[in-house]
Amino acid sequence: MRAYHRNKYQEKPLYPCEPWNITEDSFSVETNHHNEAIFSLGNGYMGMRGTLEEDYSGPDYTSTPGMYINGVYGSEEIIYPEEAPDLPRQSQTMLNLAKWSSINLYINGEKYDLLQGEVSDYSRSLDMKKGVLLRELTWTSPGGKKISFNILRFLSQDKPHLGMIIYKFKPLNFSGHVLLKTRIMGDSTNYHHLRNKRELVVKDRGFQGEIEYIIQKATSTFIATGMACRNVLIPSNEGVIISKKQLSSEKGLSVEYELNVEKGKEYSLQRYLCVYTSLDLGLNIGFSELENKLKNKLINNLNIAVEMGDKNLLKKHTDYMAEYWSDVDVKIYGDLALQQAFRFNAFHLLQSTGRDGRTNIAAKGLTGEYYEGHYFWDTETYIMPFFLYSRAEIAKSLLMYRYHNLDKARKNARRVRLDGALFPWRTINGEEASGFFMGSTVQYHINADIAYAIYQYYNTTKDKDFLHNYGAEILVETARMWVDHGGYIPLRDGKFCINEVCGPDEYKPGVNNNCYTNYMARFNLQWAIEVIKKTAEENPKAYHDLKERIKLEEEEIDAWQKAADNMFLPFNKELGIHPQDDSFLYKEAIDVDAIPSEEISLVKHWHPLVIWKYQVIKQADVILLMLLLGNLFSLEEKKANYDFYEPKTTHDSSLSPAIHSIIANEIGCMDDAYNYFMMTARLDLDDYNNNAYQGVHTACMAGSWLALIKGFAGMRNYDGKLYFNPCVPRKWKGFVFKIKFQDRQIKISVKRDKTYYKLITGEEIRIFHKGERFLLSAGRGIEKSNF
Ligand code: BGC
Repeated sequence: MRAYHRNKYQEKPLYPCEPWNITEDSFSVETNHHNEAIFSLGNGYMGMRGTLEEDYSGPDYTSTPGMYINGVYGSEEIIYPEEAPDLPRQSQTMLNLAKWSSINLYINGEKYDLLQGEVSDYSRSLDMKKGVLLRELTWTSPGGKKISFNILRFLSQDKPHLGMIIYKFKPLNFSGHVLLKTRIMGDSTNYHHLRNKRELVVKDRGFQGEIEYIIQKATSTFIATGMACRNVLIPSNEGVIISKKQLSSEKGLSVEYELNVEKGKEYSLQRYLCVYTSLDLGLNIGFSELENKLKNKLINNLNIAVEMGDKNLLKKHTDYMAEYWSDVDVKIYGDLALQQAFRFNAFHLLQSTGRDGRTNIAAKGLTGEYYEGHYFWDTETYIMPFFLYSRAEIAKSLLMYRYHNLDKARKNARRVRLDGALFPWRTINGEEASGFFMGSTVQYHINADIAYAIYQYYNTTKDKDFLHNYGAEILVETARMWVDHGGYIPLRDGKFCINEVCGPDEYKPGVNNNCYTNYMARFNLQWAIEVIKKTAEENPKAYHDLKERIKLEEEEIDAWQKAADNMFLPFNKELGIHPQDDSFLYKEAIDVDAIPSEEISLVKHWHPLVIWKYQVIKQADVILLMLLLGNLFSLEEKKANYDFYEPKTTHDSSLSPAIHSIIANEIGCMDDAYNYFMMTARLDLDDYNNNAYQGVHTACMAGSWLALIKGFAGMRNYDGKLYFNPCVPRKWKGFVFKIKFQDRQIKISVKRDKTYYKLITGEEIRIFHKGERFLLSAGRGIEKSNF
């Protein structure tokens, strides 16, 4: 392991270690940007960064306000410096919506601003148990007026179109005049990527009674977004509200309250939010009709929310969170920093993931604009397994997203003259959105990653309906792509070779026979054949419909079998390893540990031509294969490959360390297993890569779960059978987690010397502990030795 990576986790944590909270105990412009990402809230449908309610007067580039809706994007023509045929033409960028959370307060003309006057008793805390963000502080204005604030916000998990802010304040040393202003402005801008930063234009805005609404429309994609807010001020008696004004400008709306406040009394402004888009309505109608429908939907739902009231809305939201944690929470004994990080990661994964089959999870979730809000293979390979064992319905909806975009994947395959379907490397709407084919389209392995995810999903849920009616079709189309893409090469003994690809290691694009790709493609072909047979046997109607629909011929299946049987699978006898690709071993080796830290990551500092000529690896590639298809490789092979590839890897992708941790665990390199694990768990919280302000790293977050459950608990799921091989790192006392598996829920408590398995619900099941098969019966726990 590079010395550079080794000790990161030993640095002081950026936040106090608490089991359920992330707390900032003083405000500073230096940490504001990072905290905006960390304190983001989301519910899979929408997300907002932890930008303050009041206007921020700090220096430029220390704040990037963000309010996003999953799946809402703008698009521009991609400009290529060098043209080539059939390149993707349109970009896709998640749009930044109107900021609805703006609340400013003035005391006799003095504007409350954290960077003016004096702040005391400050704390901003993300309460992950409840899923709320709470800020408490006392502010003394430059003129000496003292006031305390208690500001709570949440985006409802239970009702994804709703959210609210409860803004409480108490004058501490004065009575008199306070001006309170709320604002929703449609002049939102994207900060990165788009040339036209103001893609969203205001189409309509206004008041309907107490409700403020604003309709924005993306000029390129014509997606319309609607937001409505309503304020409820408590107390609202005449003595308190001197005047109330509703003001509207071309870009937005504001509401101003002149208040007569009394020293020592608490006032509360509840600001309700409702959001809908034209995508939700799914109607093919003219804009003015759509706008009306959107407006009605907003107003009706917002009224329902206000009727429910803050307590009810919050209760339903926290109930949802309680249920989530009851299944998902992993308890780690003996390392509070890690415990905190684990919850933080699980919390952000929930917040970021679309659950409607129409949206997915972006590399940065809904916490920042970087990577343009694109979905990658991160979903299937890293994030889906996290949900699979606790919220299989979310895993399913992620797969359904792929199914719904299968036609676009078919079109994408034609673009590069291939049969079947080729899923896009980067996308929001299902089309390829990357203008850099050497890092995107060339990663054909995404097809196999999706096929593998279907296998995992089926083996965990036994959801035949999904397999027959949706999974099978994806598998046929992905298999078709492989047989068309590869070819039988005489100088390779007539083996089936897959050329001009890039494996997960993006430092080696355009190579022949990437080992990961070939193995995974073979898996894709074999699994497609198996599922087609299964569907024919178990659901003849679905099989018949599928055959008709996609003109599936028996000879095609023979062709898949032939390609799978003859797949070229790289192996080097002298070294006893699987070469990453045809050329890797013939490249010059360099000492990765000698690369100066300031040149990491290489992608940012070295010209690609320099990177490509060396045996240097960005992220787990063959090592990932050793995990996904781990039952095909012996322990010796895993060890040989790890020893060969690990020293050549820079981990310039945050997707890499978790996988190294798992394989290090399996082969008994416990120091590496622990160190790599620790690199993933607090990556965003402690900002190891100094870039969390751009948004959290969702795949890495899920990677920390993988590294614990597949690494330290040694869980594997091969062909629907569950295997465990637990151990506990020296620093901890143990850990406990639950999984849902084939209509059962199992609790696994791992201690240093033994593991306790308990079937919480469902019928008895046989599982494996350290190679020993045993029966786990209903309601009864079983203890097994870890040695
Ligand atoms: C990694 C990819 C990953 C992407 C988004 C890149 O740096 O190399 O594997 O899909 O980030 O997380």
